[in-house]
Amino acid sequence: MTRLVKELSRLPGIGEKTASRLAFNLLNRPRDEVIALAEALLEMKERVGLCSECFGLSDRPRCQICESEAREHDMVCVVEGPADLMAIERARSFNGVFHVLHGALAPLDGIGPDDLKMKELLARIGEPPRIRELIIATNATVEGEATALYIARMLKPLGVKTTRLARGLPAGGDLEYSDAATLAYALTGRREL
Ligand code: ZN
Repeated sequence: MTRLVKELSRLPGIGEKTASRLAFNLLNRPRDEVIALAEALLEMKERVGLCSECFGLSDRPRCQICESEAREHDMVCVVEGPADLMAIERARSFNGVFHVLHGALAPLDGIGPDDLKMKELLARIGEPPRIRELIIATNATVEGEATALYIARMLKPLGVKTTRLARGLPAGGDLEYSDAATLAYALTGRREL
């Protein structure tokens, strides 16, 4: 029990009190439910990897979005993390594909372009560019804005149309917590960088 509480309290947003409550709840559940949960955790860890094209989460070499012929593959939306990708998918107003950076530039924390999937983004765009528009949907934080600016400068010589999500997203806010309507609005009202 102590071990489980300790492991649960490592999760974001879960303090020791919540962890104890969860542990007691699990203790009172039927054995098969607990086994199902444990198996789901292991299966996720073993099967989910990164899509070789967009670096989103996928249990196959290429994710469903990259595989889909119904999506516009020359419209690429750049996000910081897989949770942002999911938030935009939930908003159902984007029919292009994604590129997941796995972070944002944060020089003070020692995170530079080489720590992100930045080279991969350039390689994907190609020269001459194979894409019609790059939508930068990094968070409205200092790091997110710096990352957007960096990408816009990097792509300028290539002549790729680069846009940024419209304001309306809460400043300093994380994309993944924005509701669908706000995200849809931010996508429609995107402006060129
Ligand atoms: Zn993909």
